Amino acid sequence: MMVQGGGRPLTGWGRYPVVVARHRRSEDLEAVTRGATLSRGLGRSYGDASLPGSSDGMVAVTTAADRLRWFDAERGVVRAEAGVSLATLNRLFWHRGWSVPSSPGTQQVTLGGMVAADVHGKSHHTEGCFGEHVRALRMRVADERILEVSEENEPDLFRATLGGMGLTGHLLEVEFHLRPAPSGWVLAESQGYGDLESTVDALRSAGPEWPHTLAWLDLLARGRAFGRGVVERGRRAEPGEAPARPPAPRFPPPIPFSLPLISGTTMRLANIARYWSRRRHRRGIVHPDAFFYPLDVVGWVNRLYPRAGFTQYQAVLPTGAGVEGCRELLDIMVRRGAVPLLCVLKDFGGEGKGMLSFPKAGLSIAVDLPITERTQGAVDAMNDFVAGAGGRVYLAKDTLTRAEHFRAMEPRLPAWEAVRRQWDPETRIRSALSVRLFGDAT
Ligand SMILES: Cc1cc2nc3c(=O)[nH]c(=O)nc-3n(C[C@H](O)[C@H](O)[C@H](O)COP(=O)(O)OP(=O)(O)OC[C@H]3O[C@@H](n4cnc5c(N)ncnc54)[C@H](O)[C@@H]3O)c2cc1C
Repeated sequence: MMVQGGGRPLTGWGRYPVVVARHRRSEDLEAVTRGATLSRGLGRSYGDASLPGSSDGMVAVTTAADRLRWFDAERGVVRAEAGVSLATLNRLFWHRGWSVPSSPGTQQVTLGGMVAADVHGKSHHTEGCFGEHVRALRMRVADERILEVSEENEPDLFRATLGGMGLTGHLLEVEFHLRPAPSGWVLAESQGYGDLESTVDALRSAGPEWPHTLAWLDLLARGRAFGRGVVERGRRAEPGEAPARPPAPRFPPPIPFSLPLISGTTMRLANIARYWSRRRHRRGIVHPDAFFYPLDVVGWVNRLYPRAGFTQYQAVLPTGAGVEGCRELLDIMVRRGAVPLLCVLKDFGGEGKGMLSFPKAGLSIAVDLPITERTQGAVDAMNDFVAGAGGRVYLAKDTLTRAEHFRAMEPRLPAWEAVRRQWDPETRIRSALSVRLFGDAT
């Protein structure tokens, strides 16, 4: 059944910007994507990536198309419709001894969104982006043809689509490898470190031993404590270590309406509580949701953020920039008056095969910033620094980067644009992000 909506306000996860847009949703992805200007999954990209470039564009919402096509249990290969969520895949496969590689920090994302952003997880240093595990894509390109695309068939289009933010075509089906998992449970350790330097050191030294690592930073602490943090590391538990029953699926209660409890003051208190409660070394078996998706503990946690909305500034600094580069970037942010509500660091491995995929070897820094009159200036100043240091920003989180900054950060852009032009010379498929960053017409 096709559900159509006209003129409804749409936003990304940061609830800024808002675009009034026409959209339609159906379990028939071929029908829903015909003539559409953009596809959208669960809307978990933060900024304008899943919003149309103008209010007359038709957005194809994919979430009703969530069927598994087939599963090869010998080789651990799945083919599924692009609208299936990671939460559904986890529920289906965890108790069968498989996991989806490269899982982002929320399971409320669709397969289409995972390919379009070429998502990474806590395991980027060991298994790269999701695109490394994708074998084939079925997609509708701008001239309305439906193609099967892979490393063997139209490899340029395949690579431009991994991380191409939905701008090379509408994804209908995704075929990808699962990873064997000895159990659904996770053996996790955490430990606090008193300053930025020791937190970054501990994150880096955990990498060779632990497949999943991440550091949380307190950027609201003052003086030497600025940047103190907690490093989390984990691996799938072996059957002898874990409970015999598989982890039960959790269905978090949603926050039903906007309740802007998160502010600089409440986060300062929350940071103090988190740091002191987890300062000492802890080790134990934990539910995978608690380890991989702590922000999914309630549904729609973004409703707790300030009403004006927020952005997540996520940049990667190449290894050579060191911890000094990280400190410099955070100092710029604070000097320019941005309020860092939540900050996580990840240790990245090398670049993936996606032509515009975000990661490169180095340190990823992601900070939630409320939208205020100073946020644009702070993002501009941080982008000057990141471009100069050889880093780049993540399009799935981005809201405020200017076109000239993105071009300066992204030497791969002309090659990606050439592939996009070849398949869509009139830029029929476009988004608010592509209008902002790539100069598409509205
Ligand atoms: C709490 C939280 C934590 C996160 N943690 C991480 C993380 O650790 N690592 C990470 O990499 N990302 C992370 N993200 C970002 C998220 O993984 C990506 O933004 C992902 O793309 C969202 O998927 P979605 O289905 O919601 O897509 P949407 O937000 O709806 O769309 C995102 C992009 O994908 C395109 N798209 C969606 N479906 C299709 C389709 N069928 N065909 C073509 N294009 C399509 C859209 O056009 C858009 O450009 C996080 C987001 C949140 C909210």
